[in-house]
This record gives sequence, C-alpha cells and structure tokens, in this order.
Amino acid sequence: GATLGVLGGGQLGRMFAHAAQAMGYFTVVLDPDPVSPAGLVSHHHIQTGYEDPDGLARLAALSDAVTTEFENVPAASLAALAGQCPVAPAARAVAVAQDRAQEKAHFVRCGVPCAPYAVIETAAQLAAISGDLLPGILKTARMGYDGKGQVRVATPAELAAAWDSVGQVPCVLEKMLPLALECSVIVARGADGSVVNLPVQRNLHRNGILAVTEVYEQNLPPALAQQAVAAAKSIATGLHYVGVLCVEFFVLQDGSLVVNEIAPRPHNSGHYSQNACDVSQFELQVRALAGLPLVQPRQHSAAVMLNLLGDLWFAHGDVAHTPPWDQVLALPGTHLHLYGKTQAKHGRKMGHLNITAATAEAARATALQAAALLGIAPF
Ligand code: ATP
Ligand code: MG
Ligand code: MG
Repeated sequence: GATLGVLGGGQLGRMFAHAAQAMGYFTVVLDPDPVSPAGLVSHHHIQTGYEDPDGLARLAALSDAVTTEFENVPAASLAALAGQCPVAPAARAVAVAQDRAQEKAHFVRCGVPCAPYAVIETAAQLAAISGDLLPGILKTARMGYDGKGQVRVATPAELAAAWDSVGQVPCVLEKMLPLALECSVIVARGADGSVVNLPVQRNLHRNGILAVTEVYEQNLPPALAQQAVAAAKSIATGLHYVGVLCVEFFVLQDGSLVVNEIAPRPHNSGHYSQNACDVSQFELQVRALAGLPLVQPRQHSAAVMLNLLGDLWFAHGDVAHTPPWDQVLALPGTHLHLYGKTQAKHGRKMGHLNITAATAEAARATALQAAALLGIAPF
C-alpha cells in the first residue's frame, strides 16, 4: 500500500496519521522522541533528529509523499527531502510562514491588511522606529509560538530594553491593535490549484495560548466571515501553497478585519472539524498530500472545542489527578481527544474536547458544563 510520511511527531502528526490510516495509507514518522504522539501510532517510526541526512533519506525512501506537522521544521531538511520525494507544503511556502517579516510582506503583496509594523534587524532600524507604532508588541521574527518571544512595549526605552532582552535577534514591531475578537480559517489547496475552506472559527486565547474555539452560524457577521475566507484563499494561492493552511485574523473594535499570522499545517483552532464537519482538517491534509480531490467540507453540527492543557492534571494540587472523564463523557455530544503524552506540564497541550450539538445554544451550554467539571474558566 501507499505510505505517507510526516516530519515531526507531535499531536498534529498523530491526528494526521489517524486520518491517513482510516483511508488505507501506511504512515511513517520521523521524530527524535521515542514516545512521540505520532510515532506511537504509526507503522514506522524513524527515531532521529530532524536534520539527520540518513533519517531524512529513509523517510523519503519509505514515503510516497511527505508533509510536516510543525512550522519550525528546518527549511534545509524540507529542501533535502524534496530532492528525493514529493513534499507538501513546499519548503519555500513554509519559509515564509517561519519568518514574520516575510509573512507580513506576503500579506502586503496579497493586498490583505495586517497590523502596521516595522522590521528591526539593526540598532539603526530600532532608533528610527516611528512613535506611531507604540504601544506595540515586539515579536521575534522566527521561532515564536503560544505567545513566546513576544514583549509588549509602550515607549522607545521599553522597546530598546525588549530588543536587548530577546538577544537583538531580527524582530518585527507591531502596533497594538484594539481587538474585538479573534478568528481563523482553515483552507486546503491542491496541486491543481483548487481551494476549499472550513467555516470560520472564533477563538479565545488565554495567556497567549488558544483556550476555546467556537464555530456556528451567527458567531460572526456573515460579511466578515466571507471576507476572511476570501483573504485566506488569496494568501494560500499567492504562495502556490499545497496542503492545509491556517490563517489567523483579528477583528478590530471598528469591525475591520486584519490578518495576524499563518500556520503552514492543520491548526489547533481547526480541531472541531473532526467531529462537527463531514471532512476534517486532517482528512483535507491527507487528500491534498495524496493528490486526491478536495471537496468543500460541510459543517453538520454547532461546535465548541476546549483545549485540555497540562494544568488540568494538576487542578486539585494533586499531580496524579486525572480529569473526571466519566462525568464529562456523560454529557451529550462530547468527544475526547488525548494525544498520548505521558508527562503533564503547565501550558502543555495534552488533548482537546470537542462538543457538538444541533444548536449553538446547546453546544455552548454543554461546553460550559464540561468546562466547570474540568476547572476551565467560563467563556
Ligand atoms: P501561535 O501559538 O498562535 O502561533 P504566536 O506566539 O505566534 O501564537 P501571535 O499569534 O502573533 O503569537 O500573538 C498571540 C496573541 O497575542 C494573539 O492571538 C493576540 O491575542 C495577541 N496579539 C498579537 N499581536 C497583536 C496586536 N498587534 N495587537 C493586539 N493583540 C495582539
Ligand atoms: Mg504563531
Ligand atoms: Mg497566533
């Protein structure tokens, strides 16, 4: 049978492997962790570093096509793989998503509004920053996620101190915008240029980490949702992107839409699609990678997704405490997804709970009950 490979062994790779196996594929994972979430459920696990040429050659030899599951995968590894087997998304597209300066330049090229920003790579650029960008957020150009590598600054002195604190690496300074809400869109684009999308997700972040995603009609003004989908499609097409791409947006207090950033892979905010849509984001990833037709997914249930962070395992000051799954799963329409991680840590993504229902009101009511049982603050 055909084999699909994935570079990286985290939970996104695990759920990709599940979707690939459901469609009859064998899977192979390359990850240094002997008990990685994806390695544990795959037919082959190449246990080595992401830059090991021999490991990459084995991955290519075993695979009919290879994808990635984390955005900071070394670009050189993707390029090396691409010389040996089909790879999607391509190294060039991933490189744009890995660098906030390139990413924002791409938004500008596509004509999609983003926050006013400036690139800071030198002391001279730092000194020349316009006061219009303050208060702002200094973000390292590379390697940030879950709000890491970001400092909020109000004055030129704070900005200079912040740039020192991140080691004077290349950064972007973004103007702090007055947000009304945050949303995101998952699109999938095939090698033939066809693009489909999941419905727009509304996201709540806590401490820089996604906490809750809600997806149902009336969640967002329809015109705004249409605008977000069109922007996400043009961003994917402009990159000649093949695979699943998530585009994060801000909705400002004046109602305008601003793109935040992109992730070149399935995304935490798209997990609801596993239980609320007839095609999930992971099935879309399999289809795009295998060159199968992309069809427009249909959402059949209102959905809420609750992220299950390691903190819940410590909820009662008891390290061995296990969340009360029996009570949570007694609620209608609850779907538990755990990633097989053996170590709970604060802020670590251990799993998620999807809640589906016939109506938005019912999904929200059940989700709030589940949150109360789990010790997740109401939303
Ligand atoms: P992720 O884990 O989604 O990759 P990240 O570390 O790349 O996160 P961002 O998405 O850039 O971080 O920012 C994290 C959060 O900080 C945003 O979701 C938003 O709540 C807030 N934020 C970021 N930039 C701005 C801005 N320019 N104005 C206001 N709030 C912002
Ligand atoms: Mg990010
Ligand atoms: Mg983000």
